[in-house]
Amino acid sequence: MAAATTSTSFHIRRSFQYNGNLQNSSPKRVKAFQSPTIITASLEVRRPQNVSGEFFVDHTCIDCDTCRWMAPENFTRAGDMSAVFKQPSCEEERLRALQALLSCPTSSIHTEKPPHDILEVQKTFPIPIDEHTLLGVYHCGYHSDKSFGAASYLIVRAEGDILVDSPRYTTKLENNLKMFGGARYMFLTHSDDVADHEKWSNHLGCERILHSLEVDHSTAAVEIKLEGSGPWSLGDDVTLVHTPGHTEGSVCLLYKPHKVLFTGDHFAMGELGWTIAERYNKFSVPKQLSSVKLMLDLDFEWILPGHGRRTKFRDVEDKNLSLRAFLDTKMQLL
Ligand SMILES: [Zn+2]
Repeated sequence: MAAATTSTSFHIRRSFQYNGNLQNSSPKRVKAFQSPTIITASLEVRRPQNVSGEFFVDHTCIDCDTCRWMAPENFTRAGDMSAVFKQPSCEEERLRALQALLSCPTSSIHTEKPPHDILEVQKTFPIPIDEHTLLGVYHCGYHSDKSFGAASYLIVRAEGDILVDSPRYTTKLENNLKMFGGARYMFLTHSDDVADHEKWSNHLGCERILHSLEVDHSTAAVEIKLEGSGPWSLGDDVTLVHTPGHTEGSVCLLYKPHKVLFTGDHFAMGELGWTIAERYNKFSVPKQLSSVKLMLDLDFEWILPGHGRRTKFRDVEDKNLSLRAFLDTKMQLL
């Protein structure tokens, strides 16, 4: 059992956060020791809101919600950050907690001792989302702080695999993705969630796709720039739908075989219900709502967002009932 620490350096020394590969597992702790101020190190200690035990969250948490939806049995929101409210009590919970630890964009989740099974957990990425109804669709994990912890996905398809938005680059994930056949495309929903796109392009040789309105100096080399208002096709099974609002060039990807819409930051289920995250809007809230209306005409039953919770509807009618209820509420507020 681990009590709240009284010694910052002691606690950092005996805690463990695994960033993606063994070579990269220690620099953060070393950096903390070498920090010119005590402030940095003091942020990396156990928050008092964690229950005692092996797993804990430190004060560097950015409240991105990733651990809370990846391992909801163990992580919750306490104050304006995450915390462990219950330690994993079975193998399934432990697996999900370690997957969350590896996916945390700020390396804010730790264990008291190096996990004996971390190498096995690394092999579980990318993670199947639903092996019954979403065969070939995976959550990449390894979220990046460059995209504030946005989720990225892999679609495995005969016409060439597609990465949807960019995970944090790690050699381990690269090797795992190569075992799936790599990726032909990296589809980027918008400029916020491009993260390590250049490294992935270099290592996997995938062609990046981004709307031209989203391109800046960091994405000038993107291979395919979408122009106009679409829609665009990537073969018979994938349609790219322009959904301006969050940003001017936000685009969603509709994967027709499994009726999945990858929404980026356009629309998602948040912790408190459906949201277009107005506070993070960078272009136009009314246009974003108009783009939510466009979704009524699309044939999908799943939403896989960048930020927020994945959602499975009963059917397309159920989807449209939810969207109409959301739009009705929003229109009354406008
Ligand atoms: Zn965004």
